[in-house]
Amino acid sequence: VTHELRTPLTAVKGYLEGLMDGVLTADPETFQQIHTEINRLQRLVNDLQELSQVESGAFQLAFTEVMPSNLLETIQRNFANQFEEKNLQLDIEVEPNLPQILIDKDRIIQVLTNLVGNALQYTPSGGRVVIKVHRENANLLFSVTDTGIGISAEQLPNIFNRFYRTDKSRARASGGSGIGLTIARALVKAHQGRIWATSDGEGKGSTFSFLIPVQK
Ligand code: ADP
Repeated sequence: VTHELRTPLTAVKGYLEGLMDGVLTADPETFQQIHTEINRLQRLVNDLQELSQVESGAFQLAFTEVMPSNLLETIQRNFANQFEEKNLQLDIEVEPNLPQILIDKDRIIQVLTNLVGNALQYTPSGGRVVIKVHRENANLLFSVTDTGIGISAEQLPNIFNRFYRTDKSRARASGGSGIGLTIARALVKAHQGRIWATSDGEGKGSTFSFLIPVQK
């Protein structure tokens, strides 16, 4: 944790000292860089706070009966603009006659938002993302499949670990802190479910899946 926080902090301090010493000029670019690093710090602190809440179990689920189709339609609507802007297709496939499930709707929306947000981020323009839900015995199986950069077999086991980011995603200037999937896993677990990922390798897309038990 300290390492993750220290990197942007050191960067900000470096910029400020550079400005004070006159080594850096007070131009818009320098301020932009400081701003970027501070944004990163802020995101990290917010993510960390949420992670610690979720992992310590210090949060309550507000269960209601929800139609699975309703979840996918909400996500598709929420992401429509961002997908269009990046020229990505976003489709949903819902098995007919699914039962309602007893879930904390906001939390499951949060999980789907994380998975679809990642698919959006890690899929080059022209690609496609499909969100599916179908019944599998006593569970509903949700999946998000993309045609994006994929994940190598070596890195796949690590991606749900806190702060883990694959080489390809670390190489990007933008990008998150590697906490989203850790939070998603905790939220799915709180619903007595499980979450995992598969990929045929780098450049071959990824599928993130999670199971939620059907009550009764
Ligand atoms: P981040 O904020 O970095 O996206 P996450 O915990 O959501 O953090 O994801 C962890 C890492 O897993 C990402 O940095 C990326 O390397 C990898 N990853 C997640 N989703 C995908 C995806 N759809 N395609 C390829 N890599 C992914």
